[in-house]
Amino acid sequence: MNELCKLGIKEARAGLAKGDFTSVELMQAVIDRYHEENARIGAYLTFDEEGALAEAKANPGGVPLAIKDLINVKGQPCTCGSKILKGYTSAYDATVIKGIRAHGFVPAGRVNMDEFAMGSSTENSALGRTVNPYDVTRVPGGSSGGSAAAVGGNLCIAALGTDTGGSIRQPASFCNCVGLKPSYGRVSRFGVTAFASSLDQVGPITKSVEDAALLLQALAGHDEMDGTTPREPVPDYSAAIEGATLKGVKIGLPKEYYIDGLDPEVKRITDEAIKKCAAAGAELVEVSLPHTDYAMAVYYVVAPAEASANLARFDGVRYGHRSERSDNVFNLYARSRAEGFGPEVKRRIIMGTYVLSSGYYDAYYGRASKVRTLIRRDFETVFGKVDALLTPVVPTPAFKMGEVQDPITMYLNDLFTIPGSLAGNCSISVPAGFTRAADGAPPLPVGVQFICDAFREDSLLGIARAFEQVERGA
Ligand code: GLN
Repeated sequence: MNELCKLGIKEARAGLAKGDFTSVELMQAVIDRYHEENARIGAYLTFDEEGALAEAKANPGGVPLAIKDLINVKGQPCTCGSKILKGYTSAYDATVIKGIRAHGFVPAGRVNMDEFAMGSSTENSALGRTVNPYDVTRVPGGSSGGSAAAVGGNLCIAALGTDTGGSIRQPASFCNCVGLKPSYGRVSRFGVTAFASSLDQVGPITKSVEDAALLLQALAGHDEMDGTTPREPVPDYSAAIEGATLKGVKIGLPKEYYIDGLDPEVKRITDEAIKKCAAAGAELVEVSLPHTDYAMAVYYVVAPAEASANLARFDGVRYGHRSERSDNVFNLYARSRAEGFGPEVKRRIIMGTYVLSSGYYDAYYGRASKVRTLIRRDFETVFGKVDALLTPVVPTPAFKMGEVQDPITMYLNDLFTIPGSLAGNCSISVPAGFTRAADGAPPLPVGVQFICDAFREDSLLGIARAFEQVERGA
């Protein structure tokens, strides 16, 4: 492997600034690595090599970023991991793409994902198979599995993912990456294919917390094109984390997250993380988020409801796949959708249409929205007492490909990430160690999650950075 692929954003920028290599050489290294390793890992779906090299040449200092295949980059495909968008080419750039270009990044290849970001293993992609770079018999997580496999497997410097209920944090934990879900509204969703509009956020998947701060800087801020982005000032995140420590930081341990069903190795690694925080001077307090138990049920009403509305636009007329077998306009819609969408997407559309239907709206969507408010209040109360929460990211390490067949079991992956998504606060998955594998199986990475109040990415990144330094023994 060309050593340049191992670099993070900060190191790459330093090397570019010193003239150790050029942005074209860096992009070429990523492309060579793609040729060498993508057949095995399957992180990328497509890679416009010529376009990426030309853009790197025009941007001396540009650092390549792998882009989840639901973010629009003008002239590139945007499949959302679905057959329904095969052959579609984006007509414009998402705001986040303009942001990364303005901050010295160059879009590299397009990375795989669960279809329309619905899933936790990337096995729901209709277009390719992505494996975990730490054990190719296991999943990379999802839905941003391609992004995490690209970064964890050194197939890129960093990547963009999206998180609706855990899709950045969960794959980051499985692939030994840092994964940041910004607060709802911190990052523009304009040009990002919508799954559940009240939950979706774009965020960085990186090799370090410093890199997450650098990349968030390029993403965050108000956007005229997205009315859910407030005019909240954007702090200098790199400056905010400079010299951050855990000394005197109040960290809450929500008792609802320390459940019996936790995998013993995840439990061990999380307990060690807690001890390390305490040894570094953090004050640990047990707290309670009493409505946690309802989060999963609320999410699986709200997210499918919004998805069913958002996915109505894929009708065989305006985008992508059109059925050859239709003889009237109704059949055209129905057959294009039946042929284009995979089983998980259909399941969500059916659930979502049901909970929104007249006569059921109040009982399901209306009720779920009220419980969502209670979940948000739980966090508000707790953040009056502590600076951050520390929890596991996922109840288990990466599981085997094909191991989880039942959708409900798959949904349980997001037990610890969904409540924060519903509340709209910010959270991050940071590598915390490796499993001690029995019978010579490869050790698997496990992350821990820090959660902070909405729009406190500055303190979240600082705490995560301080933990990372303790963890790395720095
Ligand atoms: N796994 C969850 C789902 O399938 C979350 C996905 C996401 O965050 N995009 O909905």
